[in-house]
Amino acid sequence: MAQARSKNARTAVAKQRFFCSCGGEIQVKQMSQNGKVKTIAECGSCKRVERRPSDFN
Ligand SMILES: [Zn+2]
Repeated sequence: MAQARSKNARTAVAKQRFFCSCGGEIQVKQMSQNGKVKTIAECGSCKRVERRPSDFN
């Protein structure tokens, strides 16, 4: 009986949310550039742009 899992455990982990140090929510965008799809992460508040959402931490 080592497992203490709730019957209502949430399995929805499709979207992970990130937040900028300014408190704004990070929005992940995909842009095509030179035929390649480039993913960038942009803060919706201060417009800071990083290559990936985890770079805001
Ligand atoms: Zn920000």
